[in-house]
Amino acid sequence: MNNPCVNCGKQRVDGKTWKGKSGASVITYTQTICPDPECQKLVDKAIADRKEKSADIARKKVEAKLAREKLIAAS
Ligand SMILES: [Zn+2]
Repeated sequence: MNNPCVNCGKQRVDGKTWKGKSGASVITYTQTICPDPECQKLVDKAIADRKEKSADIARKKVEAKLAREKLIAAS
C-alpha cells in the first residue's frame, strides 16, 4: 500500500489502532503515522490548525445566520 507522508514523502507506518462501531458492525481503525516523530508532530499540528480553521468558519457562519435572523426579526 502506497501511503506517503504528506509532509516528507516517507512511507507512513501503522500507528495506533482502535475499534469503532459503524452501525451494527465493529470496524478496526488504523492510524498511520510518519516514521519520523518530529515530522509527525508537524503533520499533527497542520491537521489541528486545519480543524481549528474549519471550526472557525463554521462558527462565523452560525453567527452571520443569527445576525441575519435578528435583522429580519427587527424589521
Ligand atoms: Zn513525514
